[in-house]
Amino acid sequence: MLYHSLKNDNNFISFEKAVLKGLCQDGSLYVPKYIPILDNKFIKDIITKELDIYKICMTVIKPYIGECIPDSYIDQIIRDTLSFPFPLKKIHDNVYVLELFHGPTLAFKDVGARFMAGCLSFFYKKIRKKITILVATSGDTGGAVAQGFYKKSGIEVIILYPYNGISSLQKKQITSLGENIFPLEIIGSFDDCQNIVKKSFTDREIQKKYILTSANSINIARWLPQMFYYFLAYKTIGKHDEKLIFSVPSGNFGNICAGMMSKEMGLPIKFFIASTNINDTIPRFLKYGEYKPLTVNRTISNAMDISNPNNFPRIWNFLCKENFYQLKSKLFSYRFTDKETLYTIEKVWNKHKYILDPHGAIGYLGIKRYLKEINSKFSSLKTIFLETAHPIKFLDNMPLSLRDEIKVPSTLKVFLKKGEIEKKVLSMSNDFTSFKNWLLGRV
Ligand SMILES: *Cc1c(COP(=O)(O)O)cnc(C)c1O
Repeated sequence: MLYHSLKNDNNFISFEKAVLKGLCQDGSLYVPKYIPILDNKFIKDIITKELDIYKICMTVIKPYIGECIPDSYIDQIIRDTLSFPFPLKKIHDNVYVLELFHGPTLAFKDVGARFMAGCLSFFYKKIRKKITILVATSGDTGGAVAQGFYKKSGIEVIILYPYNGISSLQKKQITSLGENIFPLEIIGSFDDCQNIVKKSFTDREIQKKYILTSANSINIARWLPQMFYYFLAYKTIGKHDEKLIFSVPSGNFGNICAGMMSKEMGLPIKFFIASTNINDTIPRFLKYGEYKPLTVNRTISNAMDISNPNNFPRIWNFLCKENFYQLKSKLFSYRFTDKETLYTIEKVWNKHKYILDPHGAIGYLGIKRYLKEINSKFSSLKTIFLETAHPIKFLDNMPLSLRDEIKVPSTLKVFLKKGEIEKKVLSMSNDFTSFKNWLLGRV
């Protein structure tokens, strides 16, 4: 498979090059030259022949990697990536939840981060030059990337986070590892962190000294493996007549865009619901036809506090060819307030004894809103929403009445013990020059 920039489809590069570069020179995103269509028989076999999940994921991802990585190695990356379960549970009627929070950092980003780490480890063995990953985080990305790349030889990770913008658990996940993981606390906002990262990618002096890549969901090696979730859900739900509907709590729209790719490849999905908090650029775009990002509002589903979703161009320009009617046929989008979110978490707990986290709650609300619009009561439609994080990760944002009900997962218990030794973290002002001087001074 070859990749090109969304702004220019004349220059093609390999999977390896696109992963190592992260973002295109022209500032836009890489997309594949075409979307491979899977065999109908394969899609059927997923359910009827009970193919194992590693085989399924191999078939899905292989065309995107081609000969860049040998099959046996891709297989190993997939096995390492999917070393925890992805349970699908029935909440009520035809509403199901796909739990994506059983990985080491309790959020779905573990899959993309671990897959990307596997790919980069292979590329390092080939090029034998140290690879530096520069990443800005508002919380979950940092932890997943730190865990995914921990002790990977030849790769170092520099994580910039806003000094008072992330939870104490998220901070521990980033700062307690050491080794090849270098956390940097920036006295500023997430946007400041993001700006420093962006500037570094176009700075000539930095580019001379470093092989720099990003680990945000714009990187194709983090973006594409997210297709796995949808194939796994399809397999787990087993035999069914209706096509599926997925509701995805969305911030940067990387996850949902991967889901839409899996549909284009042939997975029988009716359409997607992008559920957001009040940072509602996309719901407004679908309603009024005007793309107008506003200033970011803080919410209790803060992993989705994003007003200009960086993966949306892949949906709009690449998957929908900038055709508004196409977009409307593939995607519904609704926004929800914190009040609605909290009310729903309590209601679902009281009625169905399931604890949603604030992000998953928004996914659930997306399904409810859609069904209300079509006046249906879950009768024949199979609807699945994604639970993107464990509620313990957002404990401070959960309704008070429920906090005691949330059980600490065993993986976290071990981690919290280890994390008791606080490491000293380097703190830095939010201007690019200080960061650049520090970066150039360390090699
Ligand atoms: C990152 C994140 C999201 C948003 O995912 P996108 O792919 O950026 O749309 C939703 N929920 C949680 C818990 C996250 O960490």
